[in-house]
Amino acid sequence: MQGIVIKSTGSWYQVRLEDGKVLDCRVVGKLRLNDLPLTNPIAVGDEVSLEMENETGNGLIKGVLPRKNYVVRQSPHRKHELHLLASNIDQALLVTTITNPRLKPGFIDRFLLMVEPYEIPTIIVFNKADLYEDADFEVFAYMEDLYQGLGYTVILASAKTGDGVEELKALLKDKVTMLSGQSGVGKSSLLNQIQASLDLRVGDISEYSGKGQHTTTFAEMHPLDFGGQIIDTPGIKTLGFIHLEPNQIAHNFREFFALSSQCRFGGACLHRNEPNCAVKAALEKEEISPLRYENYLYILQEIEDLNHWE
Ligand code: GDP
Ligand code: ZN
Repeated sequence: MQGIVIKSTGSWYQVRLEDGKVLDCRVVGKLRLNDLPLTNPIAVGDEVSLEMENETGNGLIKGVLPRKNYVVRQSPHRKHELHLLASNIDQALLVTTITNPRLKPGFIDRFLLMVEPYEIPTIIVFNKADLYEDADFEVFAYMEDLYQGLGYTVILASAKTGDGVEELKALLKDKVTMLSGQSGVGKSSLLNQIQASLDLRVGDISEYSGKGQHTTTFAEMHPLDFGGQIIDTPGIKTLGFIHLEPNQIAHNFREFFALSSQCRFGGACLHRNEPNCAVKAALEKEEISPLRYENYLYILQEIEDLNHWE
């Protein structure tokens, strides 16, 4: 029997079978990825083979079919483990906002670094536009220019007024989309605007400014009635990259990678203090965003420190 994982709750998985029936399943054994242990061997979006367990009416997952792609991050709880966010996706949708909560510097670039290894197309939504003041719109204009220039789709939206929602729906139609973002940016509110029948719980401000995430704790795939699927993932607080080598960080900042063949050390250049570095030359000519470069250096330093203290 085969099916697709539509919900993961830690130890249990909901699997939708080919006939549309949904089965609660367990998984046996431990799977690994890139030699690092996984906190969750199976992700929402996985196609799995399974059999029925005797008596209980539940299923037992026996294996995962080859993944087209997957999104993996360092586990937020166990630094030396990896956590699968979703697999077999067509695109990612990052919901963020300039204000309320204030945009965390570096978060967008961390997210993009996470999805870049499979070149997963990404839409960046700046939500809560109804709350923006002039200075916020200036920040937005900078971000829009930067990320569209890099080839990402950028949308200004408001779950409150409905602005941007039609544009978003057109992009989601007939695609499998992974939805992510920090807690409180309005993911659930936007999803409810996209499809009212989802009726997701919306958190109030006090909840997320205090102890953290409240609403979505587990990833879940929802069918969209106009075609397509959306995988809602838990609010992200931080993103670490223990599983990437410094070189892979460099290769997954796409505009740096595009220039690296012109660096004296080519693909081995980390674009820091190497002589004749095309990335640093471009930075000086303002052809590369200092914001991206700064975030890049920060991530590089972070993983070097992590490996040093291991
Ligand atoms: P999530 O944690 O990302 O799912 O965020 P929620 O959808 O739970 O929203 C968090 C808070 O932000 C709630 O109080 C929402 O009412 C509010 N919110 C969401 N979208 C908007 C928006 O576009 N404008 C305004 N003003 N508030 C919003
Ligand atoms: Zn270089």
